[in-house]
Amino acid sequence: MVDLHAHTVFSDGLFTPEQLVVEARRRGLSAVGVADHDAVGGIKRAMVAGRQLGVEVVPAVELSCSVSGVDLHMLGYYVEFQDAELGAFVKDIRVHRAERGRLMVEKLQELGLKVTMDQVRSLAKDAAIGRPHVAQAMVDAGAVPNVEEAFKRYIGYEGPAYVPKKKLSPLEGVEFIRQYGGVAVVAHPGTYGNDEAVYQAIAAGVDGIEVWHPDHNANNVARYIEVAQKNHLLTTGGSDCHGGRKNGRIYLGEVRVPYELLAAVKKLAQERRKDSRGQGTKESSDS
Ligand code: AMP
Ligand code: FE
Ligand code: FE
Ligand code: ZN
Repeated sequence: MVDLHAHTVFSDGLFTPEQLVVEARRRGLSAVGVADHDAVGGIKRAMVAGRQLGVEVVPAVELSCSVSGVDLHMLGYYVEFQDAELGAFVKDIRVHRAERGRLMVEKLQELGLKVTMDQVRSLAKDAAIGRPHVAQAMVDAGAVPNVEEAFKRYIGYEGPAYVPKKKLSPLEGVEFIRQYGGVAVVAHPGTYGNDEAVYQAIAAGVDGIEVWHPDHNANNVARYIEVAQKNHLLTTGGSDCHGGRKNGRIYLGEVRVPYELLAAVKKLAQERRKDSRGQGTKESSDS
């Protein structure tokens, strides 16, 4: 079995890439997807650890898209994570995330909370700064008792200190992932409140849909299996493990799917690569 969705310290997870792989092995997973928000820096390290421990590491990235104000996450599996252009693109997004984090901290300060951007930065280090880092800094500053409360009262979508990120359209998300040889999958479709955004992503050409996720109930699972079948999409699943950042639970492997689902994703990624070689893109020059 495999868990195709996990985060590391390169975004808002708490595990280093090595710790994630150790944990994956401990939990009996044969593969784990490293899918950080707007970051690919953890993949290589996870792969090295994976080779040592016999855990297959699936390279991925989780991008934030937006459809009429709804935040839609898109997973890109098997993107060429060592490509310099791809690296520069996600780095730009991280710079924007840091700026947006600073704006949220300013709003919190205006509301009288004693939280500083220095605290956020020292928690996040070089990671893609996200609301979980801001929330943790708020907890550390004694402004709220826990991360959940920080989201509920201040930085959730309706909160007074929430600042939206610039986001891609679903089409831009799909195009970006395809451009770098990846397979695009709509993450946790059951969490967006309605399926309009999901349909937009399907119209934009995603290859798959994440059916199994901790935030999905049995109805969601049945529904998205059906949506996948109707639209000839691949299905994936994973725990979206943040290493205990979400209510202290680790989650890794709590949602796992058969290896065959990963095999289908991998096969599509390989076919894409073969096709692009046939069309004489940059890979053809060295083959
Ligand atoms: P951002 O990308 O900065 O907007 O932050 C979104 C991230 O915050 C998600 O990927 C989750 O990891 C986390 N998150 C969202 N809602 C909550 C919540 N209610 N409690 C804890 N973490 C959350
Ligand atoms: Fe996250
Ligand atoms: Fe997500
Ligand atoms: Zn995620």
